[in-house]
Amino acid sequence: MATAIRLAKAGHLVTVFEKNTYAGGKLSEMTLGKYRFDKGPSLLTMPQLIDELSVLAESNLSFKYTKLDTITHYFFEDGTRLEAKSDVKEFARELKLKLNEDEEHVLAHLKTSAFYYDTTADIFLKRSLHVLKNFFDLKTLKGILHSPRLNLFKNMHAQNAKRFKNKKTVQLFDRYATYNGSNPYKAPALLNIIPHLEFGFGAFIPKKGMHQISEHLVALALELGVSFKFDSPVEKIDLEGKKIKGLWSRAVFYPANYIVSDADMHVVYNKLLGPEFRPQKLLAQEKSSSAYVFFLGIKKEFKELGLHNILFSENYQEEFRCLFETDEPYSDPTIYINITSKYCPDDAPKNSENWFVMVNVPHNKSGEKIRYADTLRKQVFAKINRVLNTNIEDFIEEEAILDPYGIELQTSSVGGSLYGNSSNNKYAAFLRHANFNSRIKGLYFVGGSVHPGGGIPLCLMGANIVSNMISKN
Ligand SMILES: Cc1cc2nc3c(=O)[nH]c(=O)nc-3n(C[C@H](O)[C@H](O)[C@H](O)COP(=O)(O)OP(=O)(O)OC[C@H]3O[C@@H](n4cnc5c(N)ncnc54)[C@H](O)[C@@H]3O)c2cc1C
Repeated sequence: MATAIRLAKAGHLVTVFEKNTYAGGKLSEMTLGKYRFDKGPSLLTMPQLIDELSVLAESNLSFKYTKLDTITHYFFEDGTRLEAKSDVKEFARELKLKLNEDEEHVLAHLKTSAFYYDTTADIFLKRSLHVLKNFFDLKTLKGILHSPRLNLFKNMHAQNAKRFKNKKTVQLFDRYATYNGSNPYKAPALLNIIPHLEFGFGAFIPKKGMHQISEHLVALALELGVSFKFDSPVEKIDLEGKKIKGLWSRAVFYPANYIVSDADMHVVYNKLLGPEFRPQKLLAQEKSSSAYVFFLGIKKEFKELGLHNILFSENYQEEFRCLFETDEPYSDPTIYINITSKYCPDDAPKNSENWFVMVNVPHNKSGEKIRYADTLRKQVFAKINRVLNTNIEDFIEEEAILDPYGIELQTSSVGGSLYGNSSNNKYAAFLRHANFNSRIKGLYFVGGSVHPGGGIPLCLMGANIVSNMISKN
């Protein structure tokens, strides 16, 4: 949708084809009785990228959001609890108080994170990595020259374990690998860039919950004359020689000069184009993790919980081994509880809360229905009861789930992976699919399965890269 907005503003006639009857893909919502839930993303960073689209569209439509003072509440099995405040000095003080971590080490880590962002964002995030001339300007060269300080050959965990003395602090910072579905024991130390998005730019929640982002982008696109075709799966892409000719949806042919796909690249290569175009090596790469989500309407308020809450597993390394080397989640998984009603009171009835309870799980390689559902439910509820000293089932008024099978069904992401390929090796950034196809003129890619990667901010940056490329062409 961000690409549609940018291209429409640049004067193109744009049509969005969406197979679902609603917009937003992973960024959508649902209701259960009197409770509203965001179905996918729950953390908003870099909202300036959305504001940028409103400004570009010269729109008066408002998109309001609140900056969080407390970003995350952390809970450990031994009873340790701590709050990550957005003020970095307060955060460092909290880690000193609760974990006896040196404040200077925490501040130094966040400084490194900011350094990674400032040095690499222009190279790795804001431009195509697959256009050679992008490497030949001063800023880029400076970034490359800094590369020894980027620790390109160390993994995230190794860097964090060297920096911090308390295992809990290491676990807290290792967790950021999950923000793009990766394994901190394998992902490059450069992914320690992620805390900067939260602590440097801030963490936010839209006034009406995350789904407001999708609604706002649709509204902006409509203002600029973009036309939306819902319930309209794209079934085939037609070429004229090696150039885009148009696409087929519901047996109707639509001519086009350019096609920009936001669907998982597997969809494009396995379903919409002929087999001769398949980039076999790229398609075979390891996928990012998926998620299993319980949506719970809870008729009680938990004062000790905030908007974002993490109940950590005891053996993080084993949890990631299960995530990436087996087909089932770890038996004591880290649990994430998101409660938007803490900020958006209309999302739950009075004295109640809307719990989005998420566990990272392996992507669904078999493509078949999930078999560990009952076991996982027992494990997750037992852990919630243990850590929060409650009996959560006494308070459940509504319940539904979304598993990797459902995520694939609803969004076509292969195996329900949340962020395309994983970043579990040092070359990952270079191994993502480019934003264009070098063999087919007029075919472009955005979204989580291609450069610069998954998550709302990176997808929005991808839209900018592609619309600039099309404008230049
Ligand atoms: C449970 C969960 C939690 C997440 N948490 C976060 C978070 O906290 N913060 C964050 O930034 N990100 C998070 N993400 C990731 C984030 O949602 C995505 O990276 C982001 O929404 C971008 O998704 P996308 O555009 O790549 O794909 P999608 O949102 O999946 O969009 C692809 C669209 O293409 C459509 N489509 C597919 N095939 C066809 C076809 N043939 N014809 C027509 N339409 C088609 C699909 O229906 C879908 O609407 C989370 C995702 C999930 C599922």
